[in-house]
Formats: sequence, C-alpha cells, structure tokens
Amino acid sequence: MPDSPKPGEACGVFGIYAPGKPVSHLIYYGLFALQHRGQESAGIATSDGETLTLVKDLGLVSHVFDESDLAALDGHLGIGHTRYSTTGSNSWSNAQPAHRQVGHISIALGHNGNLTNPGSLAAELGIKGSGSDSDLMVEAIARRLDDRRSDDRGLEMALMEALPSFRGAFSLVVMDQGRLIGVRDPHGFRPLVLGSLDGGWVLASETAALDLVGATFQREVEPGEMVVVDAQGLRSVRPFPPAEPRLCVFEFVYFARPDSVLGGTNVAMARRAMGFRLAEEHPADADIVVPVPESGIPAAQGYAQRSGIAYADALVKNRYVGRTFIEPTQELRDRGIRLKLNPISAVLSGRRVVLVDDSIVRGSTTRQLCRMLREAGASEVHLRVSSPPYRWPCFYGMDTSDRSQLLAARMDVDEMVEYLGVDSLGYLSLQGLLDSVGPGGFCTACLSGDYPTDVSEAVGKLALEHTG
Ligand code: SF4
Repeated sequence: MPDSPKPGEACGVFGIYAPGKPVSHLIYYGLFALQHRGQESAGIATSDGETLTLVKDLGLVSHVFDESDLAALDGHLGIGHTRYSTTGSNSWSNAQPAHRQVGHISIALGHNGNLTNPGSLAAELGIKGSGSDSDLMVEAIARRLDDRRSDDRGLEMALMEALPSFRGAFSLVVMDQGRLIGVRDPHGFRPLVLGSLDGGWVLASETAALDLVGATFQREVEPGEMVVVDAQGLRSVRPFPPAEPRLCVFEFVYFARPDSVLGGTNVAMARRAMGFRLAEEHPADADIVVPVPESGIPAAQGYAQRSGIAYADALVKNRYVGRTFIEPTQELRDRGIRLKLNPISAVLSGRRVVLVDDSIVRGSTTRQLCRMLREAGASEVHLRVSSPPYRWPCFYGMDTSDRSQLLAARMDVDEMVEYLGVDSLGYLSLQGLLDSVGPGGFCTACLSGDYPTDVSEAVGKLALEHTG
C-alpha cells in the first residue's frame, strides 16, 4: 500500500451457528458490516452438518456473492471473511476462508491479525515458500486433525494442540461440518465478540456486525479463550497460559466502526473524547474546526466542543470511492485525493482552520489535503491529530511494516510542519489517548515502540526484505 494515507486493516471475521436456520444471508450481511476491515477479497463457508460449501473471490462483498452463490451456500452454520492482505499476495488462493480436507472432515478458517512466527511455523511444518498466515494455521490444524479423524471432537482437540505454536495476533473463526469455533490470541490484539440469535450463536470482529444481523451482544471472547459451539451448546476452553490483555489501541483510533463497542466503550464516544483532550493539549487560535471525514469526525466534534470553535464540514467525501488504485504520476495522484475528498470554498475562504485527522502514517495524502485547503481559501491551517505520532512498525496485522515510510519516524514536529505546509501541528499524547479509550490493557507498540510480545523473527524478516 505504497501511498495510502492510513494503515491497512487486516480482515474481518464472522461466524454463526443457528440450528434449523439457513445462515448464508446472515453471513453475507455480517460481512457487509465488516467491509471496512478488508476490501480485497471475501469468502463464506457453510455446512448443513454433512457437507461444507465454500465460495470466495477477490473483490468487495457485494461483488463476490450473488443470489445463486448464497442459495448454494446451504446449512445452519458457517463462517465468513473479508480480507486485506498484510501477508501473502492479493491472489485468489490467499482469499479466505482457508480450507483443508482431512479424510471425511472438512475444515475452514478465517483469520484477523498477523502471526509473528510464520517462518518458524512453516519450518516446523516442513513448508517451503511464503503462503499466508491463515494457510499455515489451517495446515498446522489439519496435521493434528489427521491423527484424530475418528474423534468426534477432533477439530477442538487439534486446535488445542496447534494453537500454542502460533505467535502474534489472531482472532479466528474455524469450523468443520458440525461445529463453529472462535479463538482469540492470548493478548487479544484483535477484537472478537459473541452474540446470541434465536437460540444460536454469532461471532464477529465487531459489535456492528451483530447489530446488522439482529443478534444480541453477550460478551467479548476473552483474550486467550476458545469458544466451541455445537449441538451440545456453547463451551469455553483455555488453550493458552494467561497473558496481559493488549487490544490494539488503533481499533479505537481508526479501524473499528464508530458504532461498534470495544471493551464496553463505544468507539465514536472514545474518538470524541480524544478530540476533547486534544483541544486541551493543543489549543489553536482559529475560526472553524474541520474534520477529515469520516474517521476524523467525532474527534473534530470533541475538539470543537472543548475549544468553543465552530465545527464545520468543509470536506465532502465521495462515498462511492473505495480504495484508489495505482496512480503513477503526481498529477493523477493529486486527482486521487480529489476523487475521495473535495473542499467547500464557501466554508473555507478567509478562515483560520483547525483540521482534525485521526492519524498520519505516511503523510503524503495529508500534505495534499492541506494544500487543497489553502487553494480553497483557508488563511491558516492548524493540523491536530487525535493520536500520538505513528513511529514504529506494526507486526500484529496492520500494513505499516516499513519504518522508513512512516513520516513521524523520519521527522520531528518542526520538520513535519514544514513538509506538510501547515501553520502548526499538534498530536494527542499517549496518556491522553489511553485516558480516552477507557479501562483495559492496550497494545501501543506503533506509538511507543513497546511491543507486548517477542517480534524478533518479524523484525529479522523485515530487515531481510529491505536488503533483498
Ligand atoms: S502496533 Fe499499533 S496498530 Fe499494531 S496492534 Fe499494536 S497498537 Fe495496533
């Protein structure tokens, strides 16, 4: 993602077990609610208790499935996945759910997160070359399952054996013909929630997906927990030793939907609190507060509320543009941002503007945006960012692994002011961010350099990619 303004998200997962009910449409709607977590491919696997059916392809959820696909996806249990490729290329074979056949048992797996030990896991399995993390995981599980084909709880047992060999971030939905399983890694980097629906159970990356299918939120799958749903009901298992919870704090900053609830805190309210605190930490003498839509909106509202400066929507977002594709020339790149955002001169002309964004990753888009505001008549641009400087690579499922591309890793604030062409720049402090997102343990590694787990294998791989 060479010139994208934001870190790429690493997938959305959904699972459902609904006795006596066809589930393909519910999974489809669940994936719709999770489309923001990955737009490169989508897939659904279902089972009627005997046969597992899988449909997946590159593209958005609305493009991948039509009525005939959903009709063919028969059964009362299933999983779904939307993918953003942080490991492995964006090819059909890397689309998820990943699938294996072990004798008469079919298994499918959907993954959100990144493993930090794919090399050693591949070596352990005797696999050469680089596949996706999900492929490695499903292979590791299938190998264990091979010895347990006759065991009715074979998949559950195979997972208990395989899971401790996975390191890093993984929220998983896994199924065979008869059961649905959800797993969250010991630190719980990525979210996974559990809901109920008409006597059945639903798993999803975010509560917004539960809302869309009419499920009732029950609780989060806890870090280090595995939940198994089958004809006997739901049970909870602990395959890992206990560890400190470390939910990705960037879920609150940018990734999660504003209508989702994480750790008991609504995401929009947390973003608003970030903006409120930002106004206290970095006041500005200005006429209007303008958000970068859409994730910057709640923070801009909080900033306006605390500062008393009028809130103004001065950037119009084209709702129908997803990702922009490879833009080879500067001229086309400039147009790329106008495809997504267009300024309203009548609002901006002659005004001193506080521009509120949730994060700056590479900086090139922010620079274009600030230039665009000035061209539209803004007399001053004061940039305020509702998270701390993004300085360190993420190895837990965000596509920002190259530190040399991170603006804040290369420049101090004065240099960034110059580069971005703004009158002033202020970032929310780490404490300000943590105070805004409520209680709980968080990963802040990309902001603090404090990695909750050993990432030496991932760091080594990154160094090799740079010299290679
Ligand atoms: S490093 Fe940053 S983006 Fe990655 S999991 Fe931690 S907080 Fe989230």
